[in-house]
Amino acid sequence: MVGGLLSIGVIDVLDILLVAFIIYWVLLFIRGTRAVQILFGLLFLMVMYVVSKKAGMVTFQWLVGNFLENLLVVLVVVFHSEIRRGLAKIGQWRLFGGRGSVSDPHMMDQIAQCAFLLAAERIGAILLLEREMGLEELVEHGKKLDALFSHELAVSIFATSSPVHDGAVVIRNNRIAAAGVILPIPPESIETRGMGTRHRAAFGVASETDAVAVVVSEETGNVTVFSNRSANRAETVQQLRDILGLLFRKEEVQSERG
Ligand code: ATP
Ligand code: MG
Repeated sequence: MVGGLLSIGVIDVLDILLVAFIIYWVLLFIRGTRAVQILFGLLFLMVMYVVSKKAGMVTFQWLVGNFLENLLVVLVVVFHSEIRRGLAKIGQWRLFGGRGSVSDPHMMDQIAQCAFLLAAERIGAILLLEREMGLEELVEHGKKLDALFSHELAVSIFATSSPVHDGAVVIRNNRIAAAGVILPIPPESIETRGMGTRHRAAFGVASETDAVAVVVSEETGNVTVFSNRSANRAETVQQLRDILGLLFRKEEVQSERG
């Protein structure tokens, strides 16, 4: 027994820590998503399998056994979007390098003012702020602009008479890369319940990428910031500036470390 304990080396400890970290990270990652229910479903099937084996229910055991034998394929198919999201997140870690572009405070200011200008006019909008992960795939589907950002331009884009008012504007550094960008709408989850399509689409990109979405509601005039899987309401220009400042400062600190 003592000999067994002594034979645990540094590598074994690292091994266990790594697996514990991965399990913790996966749990954090899927918390509050559909994946949790699916995992419970699979767990239930496994319990049923053991029970049927003990009870000698041959046919049922055969059916469930066959299904579980292909578990790897089943997991990949069922969790394909989570796996994609997870791999993209790993690629984002500074450990593996990055471009480290940080939007300047003046730009944050402009965006904050613009959002409340739109809100005051009850003009709905999505301002999508690109960070490390390129949004080129989305930009391709919109109208490419590559124009210097100004709130006048943003207001004229989102004015209902504008042909590109539907969709989001993608902001890269201090330029509007594209307008009229229709974002993919994620499947309904606990977080998106009760949201309209605009807010759901913004939640979707913010959770799939590292981009930050500032959404102005045309129904209520509310301004909401989506980043990762969270949504924060900003009541004033100053509050929006603070929220954005915090989000982008975090990035700055990270890239200084990396
Ligand atoms: P609001 O509070 O502004 O009404 P909402 O979340 O209730 O927003 P909807 O009322 O369903 O959203 O849609 C309002 C507008 O949002 C649409 O007219 C369209 O311009 C924009 N929109 C809808 N879906 C998308 C999408 N997938 N990507 C970008 N913009 C979208
Ligand atoms: Mg609506």
